[in-house]
Amino acid sequence: MPKSALVDFSRRMTPDHLAFGTSGNMSVRMGDTVWITPSGVPFDEVGEEDLAAVDLATGNWVAGTARPSSELPLHRALYSARPDVQAIVHTHSEYAAVFAACGEPVLPVHYQLAPWQYSIACAEYATYGSVELARNAVAALAPDHHVVLLRNHGLLAAAATLADAYQIARDGEWLAQLYYRARLLGSPRILSPEEIAAVREQFRHYGQNPES
Ligand SMILES: [Zn+2]
Repeated sequence: MPKSALVDFSRRMTPDHLAFGTSGNMSVRMGDTVWITPSGVPFDEVGEEDLAAVDLATGNWVAGTARPSSELPLHRALYSARPDVQAIVHTHSEYAAVFAACGEPVLPVHYQLAPWQYSIACAEYATYGSVELARNAVAALAPDHHVVLLRNHGLLAAAATLADAYQIARDGEWLAQLYYRARLLGSPRILSPEEIAAVREQFRHYGQNPES
């Protein structure tokens, strides 16, 4: 089940402009095991045989034949810190990476991300694949937040399901694109925390989703 979902969402990464070649990765937690996409395989070629399973606590390989993504420490650290997180999507998507390159947060010029959080913070830089990067990302992701930028790197989305984590990654990239373009046009009007809270209440009250 987690394997087929990982393959399905991996195949969407390139068409949805969330990945270029082999950049990025995603995983699902199943109890004490983490299923994760492989290192060095383009997303549009990932099959179930390419997925790797590791023990969450030790990082030891427990199933699969492919080498796990180099960002495994990032995934393990986030699962360990956040019991509510069951799936993670990491991208180098273009507009999120632009803000990450400047070390700037993505501010809410639209309510698309309102059901999840107010704005997208940016974690301090550390070398990809390092334990320090994992530590910085966990520190920058507020306890009730689901998406964060990694400075000079990309975006990290986390949720209770892979479908939600994937949608949050798409929403984050879309918001970054909109904010970038609004800044080119003029002076974007940033929604206030109260305005975002009102949207969140509206979604909750009417049972609508952020696509509405
Ligand atoms: Zn990366």
